[in-house]
Amino acid sequence: MPPSYAHAAEVFPMSSKQPVTVIGLGPMGQAMVHALLSQGHHVTVWNRTVSRADALVARGAVLAKSAEAALSANELIVLSLTDYNAMYTVLEPVSHALSDRVLVNLSSDTPEKTRAGARWVSEHGAVHLTGGVTVPPSGIGQRKSSTFYSGPRHAFEAHRSTLEVLTRTDYRGEDPGLAALMYQMGMVMFWTSMLSYWQVIALADANGLTAADILPHATETMNAMPGFLSFYTERIDAGEHGGDVDRLAMGMASVEHVLHTNADAGVDTVLPAAVAALFRRGIESGHAADSFSSLVELMKTAKA
Ligand code: NDP
Repeated sequence: MPPSYAHAAEVFPMSSKQPVTVIGLGPMGQAMVHALLSQGHHVTVWNRTVSRADALVARGAVLAKSAEAALSANELIVLSLTDYNAMYTVLEPVSHALSDRVLVNLSSDTPEKTRAGARWVSEHGAVHLTGGVTVPPSGIGQRKSSTFYSGPRHAFEAHRSTLEVLTRTDYRGEDPGLAALMYQMGMVMFWTSMLSYWQVIALADANGLTAADILPHATETMNAMPGFLSFYTERIDAGEHGGDVDRLAMGMASVEHVLHTNADAGVDTVLPAAVAALFRRGIESGHAADSFSSLVELMKTAKA
């Protein structure tokens, strides 16, 4: 284990704050720098577009002259870039300066890209921790917010207290892809749920209603979801898809109504049609009398 992170806790005891470099000053990176400065950390920053550092420098952050200088300034480096391709663009030309650094990569990407990124970073003598931030920039610095982490446990433990200035931490294990996997699972639910809301707003608009008109009903519907999640989770893990509570044939009729309600209103039907197509595959596979949770068995395999 490189001594650099093994001894971080001793080098920066409780009474002093660990200095941090933040590379990437989009809305997320900026919020992180503000949170670190507020907690008394010395922060060095670097960004491709230099002007994005102005307000942070006014608050006391130090602007590094180059990405190389930013890496050299501190052992702990937080990356907040658009994706892992941006990491290579920024760090490849200065990769010699990576040695002995701990890179906490809070840029999102696929689990496979994060695993490859972690290998690349370690080949250059640094330690890579993957992070998946689950809140928008306004949630940074808030105790109720959380970030998934994965990668070498010693590095995580050594820097945990500094990382907890940003959000609570949820360490998932040594595999660098795990934090990205958890993050992407959240995004699957976020994007599809929000698209369902956009669909409802389009349907409302076609019927002379505003988004505000339907917000209470939409909120109540979403609030009911946790009950469905826990009910079906137990049955799915037990391999139970019995049609005692709901039947796929009933679900098929319902999603056809949804599809036709949208078609009749003249709004886009791509989303309800995709839902109906999945239900139809379930029926064709012989699950008409089973619960609609049986669709999960179809979804475990990519469609040929
Ligand atoms: P942005 O995409 O707005 O900005 C990220 C930073 O990446 C900017 O500093 C930008 O530099 C830099 N960048 C992008 N491409 C390159 C490149 N080719 N070379 C050099 N620098 C580059 O992202 P956010 O700040 O919103 O988010 C950062 C990360 O956090 C992302 O991975 C995002 O998915 C994740 N995240 C964001 C959330 C959010 O609500 N914003 C929520 C949860 C996670 P420049 O300023 O020069 O353009």
